[in-house]
Amino acid sequence: MEARLVILGAPGAGKGTQARRLKKKFGWAHISTGDMFRAHLENQTPLGKKIESYMDSGQLVPDELTCEIVAERLQEPDCAKGYILDGFPRSVPQAEALDQILAGREESLDAVLLLDVPDDEIVARLAARRTCPQCGKIYNLTLFPPKNDNVCDKDNTTLERRPDDEEDKIRTRLAVYHETTEPLINYYSDTGLLRRIPATEHDLSVIEDKIEEVLMARDATES
Ligand code: AMP
Repeated sequence: MEARLVILGAPGAGKGTQARRLKKKFGWAHISTGDMFRAHLENQTPLGKKIESYMDSGQLVPDELTCEIVAERLQEPDCAKGYILDGFPRSVPQAEALDQILAGREESLDAVLLLDVPDDEIVARLAARRTCPQCGKIYNLTLFPPKNDNVCDKDNTTLERRPDDEEDKIRTRLAVYHETTEPLINYYSDTGLLRRIPATEHDLSVIEDKIEEVLMARDATES
Protein backbone atom coordinates (compact mmCIF):
# COMPACT_ATOMS: atom_id res chain seq x y z
CA MET A 1 0.00 0.00 0.00
CA GLU A 2 1.26 3.49 -0.86
CA ALA A 3 0.37 6.38 1.43
CA ARG A 4 1.35 9.94 2.14
CA LEU A 5 0.41 10.85 5.66
CA VAL A 6 0.72 13.56 8.25
CA ILE A 7 0.63 12.61 11.93
CA LEU A 8 -0.64 15.47 14.08
CA GLY A 9 -0.81 15.67 17.84
CA ALA A 10 0.65 17.35 20.91
CA PRO A 11 4.26 16.64 21.84
CA GLY A 12 4.29 13.22 23.50
CA ALA A 13 1.03 12.06 21.89
CA GLY A 14 2.94 9.15 20.34
CA LYS A 15 3.50 10.48 16.81
CA GLY A 16 7.10 9.25 16.59
CA THR A 17 6.32 5.87 18.09
CA GLN A 18 3.42 5.21 15.72
CA ALA A 19 5.34 6.56 12.72
CA ARG A 20 8.16 4.11 13.43
CA ARG A 21 5.69 1.22 13.63
CA LEU A 22 4.10 2.22 10.31
CA LYS A 23 7.50 2.57 8.68
CA LYS A 24 8.45 -0.92 9.84
CA LYS A 25 5.19 -2.43 8.63
CA PHE A 26 4.70 -0.64 5.30
CA GLY A 27 8.16 0.65 4.39
CA TRP A 28 7.09 4.30 4.19
CA ALA A 29 9.73 6.91 4.95
CA HIS A 30 9.47 8.43 8.43
CA ILE A 31 10.15 12.15 8.23
CA SER A 32 10.47 13.74 11.66
CA THR A 33 11.50 17.39 11.58
CA GLY A 34 12.31 17.17 15.31
CA ASP A 35 14.73 14.26 14.69
CA MET A 36 16.31 16.09 11.74
CA PHE A 37 16.78 19.24 13.80
CA ARG A 38 18.25 17.27 16.73
CA ALA A 39 20.77 15.66 14.34
CA HIS A 40 21.81 19.13 13.12
CA LEU A 41 22.20 20.31 16.72
CA GLU A 42 24.28 17.31 17.66
CA ASN A 43 26.54 17.69 14.65
CA GLN A 44 26.77 21.46 15.19
CA THR A 45 26.06 22.15 11.51
CA PRO A 46 25.43 25.77 10.39
CA LEU A 47 21.68 25.01 10.52
CA GLY A 48 22.17 23.46 13.98
CA LYS A 49 23.65 26.70 15.26
CA LYS A 50 20.77 28.75 13.84
CA ILE A 51 18.06 26.63 15.46
CA GLU A 52 19.66 25.99 18.86
CA SER A 53 17.92 28.75 20.80
CA TYR A 54 14.47 27.84 19.46
CA MET A 55 14.85 24.16 20.28
CA ASP A 56 16.30 24.81 23.73
CA SER A 57 13.36 26.98 24.70
CA GLY A 58 10.67 24.75 23.18
CA GLN A 59 9.71 27.36 20.57
CA LEU A 60 9.16 26.61 16.91
CA VAL A 61 12.01 26.93 14.44
CA PRO A 62 11.13 29.56 11.77
CA ASP A 63 8.92 28.25 8.98
CA GLU A 64 11.37 29.05 6.21
CA LEU A 65 14.14 26.85 7.64
CA THR A 66 11.67 24.09 8.45
CA CYS A 67 9.97 23.98 5.06
CA GLU A 68 13.32 23.95 3.29
CA ILE A 69 14.59 20.82 5.05
CA VAL A 70 11.29 19.03 4.44
CA ALA A 71 11.30 19.86 0.72
CA GLU A 72 14.86 18.52 0.46
CA ARG A 73 14.10 15.40 2.46
CA LEU A 74 11.13 14.53 0.25
CA GLN A 75 13.45 14.30 -2.72
CA GLU A 76 15.25 11.30 -1.28
CA PRO A 77 14.48 7.96 -2.94
CA ASP A 78 12.94 6.31 0.14
CA CYS A 79 9.96 8.69 -0.17
CA ALA A 80 8.85 7.28 -3.54
CA LYS A 81 6.48 4.68 -2.05
CA GLY A 82 5.04 6.96 0.59
CA TYR A 83 5.96 8.81 3.74
CA ILE A 84 4.76 9.83 7.16
CA LEU A 85 5.34 13.43 8.16
CA ASP A 86 5.79 13.53 11.93
CA GLY A 87 5.88 16.95 13.59
CA PHE A 88 5.40 18.78 10.29
CA PRO A 89 3.41 20.85 9.47
CA ARG A 90 3.07 22.58 12.84
CA SER A 91 1.42 25.84 11.76
CA VAL A 92 -1.03 26.95 9.10
CA PRO A 93 1.73 28.69 7.04
CA GLN A 94 3.69 25.41 7.11
CA ALA A 95 0.59 23.51 5.94
CA GLU A 96 0.20 25.98 3.08
CA ALA A 97 3.88 25.58 2.20
CA LEU A 98 3.41 21.80 2.24
CA ASP A 99 0.48 22.12 -0.17
CA GLN A 100 2.78 24.00 -2.54
CA ILE A 101 5.60 21.47 -2.19
CA LEU A 102 3.16 18.61 -2.89
CA ALA A 103 1.62 20.40 -5.87
CA GLY A 104 5.12 20.78 -7.32
CA ARG A 105 5.62 17.02 -6.93
CA GLU A 106 2.14 16.24 -8.34
CA GLU A 107 1.29 14.47 -5.10
CA SER A 108 -1.38 14.87 -2.48
CA LEU A 109 -1.87 13.71 1.09
CA ASP A 110 -3.98 10.63 1.73
CA ALA A 111 -4.84 11.37 5.35
CA VAL A 112 -3.96 13.46 8.36
CA LEU A 113 -4.04 11.38 11.54
CA LEU A 114 -4.70 13.30 14.72
CA LEU A 115 -3.52 11.45 17.84
CA ASP A 116 -5.80 12.76 20.54
CA VAL A 117 -4.43 12.82 24.12
CA PRO A 118 -5.53 15.17 26.94
CA ASP A 119 -3.02 17.70 28.32
CA ASP A 120 -2.66 16.13 31.79
CA GLU A 121 -1.60 12.87 30.29
CA ILE A 122 0.80 14.63 27.90
CA VAL A 123 2.63 16.29 30.79
CA ALA A 124 2.94 12.99 32.67
CA ARG A 125 4.12 11.15 29.55
CA LEU A 126 6.78 13.69 28.61
CA ALA A 127 8.15 13.82 32.14
CA ALA A 128 8.61 10.03 32.02
CA ARG A 129 9.89 9.83 28.43
CA ARG A 130 13.40 8.54 27.81
CA THR A 131 15.05 7.94 24.44
CA CYS A 132 17.93 5.76 23.28
CA PRO A 133 20.47 8.10 21.64
CA GLN A 134 21.82 5.14 19.64
CA CYS A 135 18.73 3.59 17.99
CA GLY A 136 16.04 6.18 18.77
CA LYS A 137 13.74 3.75 20.62
CA ILE A 138 11.37 5.64 22.92
CA TYR A 139 10.57 4.43 26.45
CA ASN A 140 8.25 5.63 29.19
CA LEU A 141 9.61 4.92 32.68
CA THR A 142 6.12 4.23 34.01
CA LEU A 143 4.29 2.64 31.09
CA PHE A 144 6.99 1.02 28.94
CA PRO A 145 10.15 0.91 31.05
CA PRO A 146 13.33 -0.72 29.75
CA LYS A 147 14.07 -4.25 31.07
CA ASN A 148 17.20 -3.02 32.83
CA ASP A 149 17.34 0.26 34.66
CA ASN A 150 17.82 3.20 32.28
CA VAL A 151 19.51 1.26 29.44
CA CYS A 152 18.11 0.42 26.00
CA ASP A 153 16.80 -3.15 25.59
CA LYS A 154 18.22 -3.33 22.07
CA ASP A 155 21.76 -1.99 22.41
CA ASN A 156 22.39 -1.39 26.12
CA THR A 157 23.03 2.33 25.57
CA THR A 158 22.21 4.61 28.52
CA LEU A 159 18.85 6.28 27.93
CA GLU A 160 18.58 10.05 27.78
CA ARG A 161 15.95 12.60 28.71
CA ARG A 162 15.43 15.18 25.98
CA PRO A 163 16.41 18.62 27.28
CA ASP A 164 13.06 19.99 26.11
CA ASP A 165 11.20 17.36 28.18
CA GLU A 166 11.86 19.28 31.38
CA GLU A 167 8.77 20.59 33.17
CA ASP A 168 8.93 24.29 32.16
CA LYS A 169 9.76 23.45 28.53
CA ILE A 170 6.89 20.97 28.41
CA ARG A 171 4.49 23.78 29.37
CA THR A 172 5.93 26.05 26.66
CA ARG A 173 5.67 23.34 24.03
CA LEU A 174 2.06 22.59 24.97
CA ALA A 175 1.18 26.30 24.80
CA VAL A 176 2.81 26.51 21.34
CA TYR A 177 0.85 23.44 20.30
CA HIS A 178 -2.50 24.89 21.35
CA GLU A 179 -1.84 28.28 19.87
CA THR A 180 -0.04 27.51 16.62
CA THR A 181 -0.49 23.86 15.75
CA GLU A 182 -4.08 23.19 16.82
CA PRO A 183 -5.55 25.46 14.10
CA LEU A 184 -4.37 22.75 11.69
CA ILE A 185 -7.21 20.57 12.96
CA ASN A 186 -9.69 22.90 11.26
CA TYR A 187 -7.42 23.36 8.26
CA TYR A 188 -7.40 19.62 7.58
CA SER A 189 -10.99 18.90 8.57
CA ASP A 190 -12.06 21.48 6.00
CA THR A 191 -10.22 19.50 3.31
CA GLY A 192 -11.78 16.22 4.52
CA LEU A 193 -8.39 14.69 5.30
CA LEU A 194 -8.54 14.67 9.09
CA ARG A 195 -8.94 11.37 10.96
CA ARG A 196 -9.17 11.62 14.74
CA ILE A 197 -7.61 8.70 16.62
CA PRO A 198 -8.15 8.52 20.39
CA ALA A 199 -4.64 7.76 21.63
CA THR A 200 -4.81 7.47 25.41
CA GLU A 201 -4.77 3.67 25.18
CA HIS A 202 -1.46 2.41 26.58
CA ASP A 203 -1.34 -0.65 24.39
CA LEU A 204 0.48 0.75 21.35
CA SER A 205 -0.69 -2.02 19.05
CA VAL A 206 -4.33 -1.02 19.70
CA ILE A 207 -3.59 2.49 18.43
CA GLU A 208 -1.67 1.07 15.48
CA ASP A 209 -4.69 -1.11 14.62
CA LYS A 210 -6.97 1.93 14.76
CA ILE A 211 -4.67 3.78 12.37
CA GLU A 212 -4.68 0.86 9.97
CA GLU A 213 -8.47 0.64 10.15
CA VAL A 214 -8.69 4.30 9.18
CA LEU A 215 -6.29 3.81 6.27
CA MET A 216 -8.10 0.70 5.04
CA ALA A 217 -11.46 2.51 5.21
CA ARG A 218 -9.98 5.24 3.05
CA ASP A 219 -8.75 2.70 0.49
CA ALA A 220 -12.16 1.01 0.42
CA THR A 221 -13.89 4.34 -0.26
CA GLU A 222 -11.52 5.13 -3.09
CA SER A 223 -11.83 1.85 -4.97
P1 AMP B 1 9.58 17.26 18.22
O1 AMP B 1 10.64 16.23 18.31
O2 AMP B 1 8.68 17.05 17.04
O3 AMP B 1 8.81 17.44 19.50
O4 AMP B 1 10.32 18.67 17.94
C1 AMP B 1 11.27 19.19 18.84
C2 AMP B 1 11.51 20.65 18.55
O5 AMP B 1 11.99 20.81 17.19
C3 AMP B 1 10.29 21.56 18.61
O6 AMP B 1 9.99 21.97 19.94
C4 AMP B 1 10.74 22.71 17.72
O7 AMP B 1 11.67 23.54 18.39
C5 AMP B 1 11.48 21.99 16.61
N1 AMP B 1 10.56 21.58 15.52
C6 AMP B 1 10.24 20.33 15.12
N2 AMP B 1 9.38 20.33 14.09
C7 AMP B 1 9.14 21.63 13.82
C8 AMP B 1 8.31 22.31 12.87
N3 AMP B 1 7.55 21.63 11.99
N4 AMP B 1 8.32 23.66 12.87
C9 AMP B 1 9.08 24.35 13.73
N5 AMP B 1 9.85 23.79 14.67
C10 AMP B 1 9.89 22.44 14.72
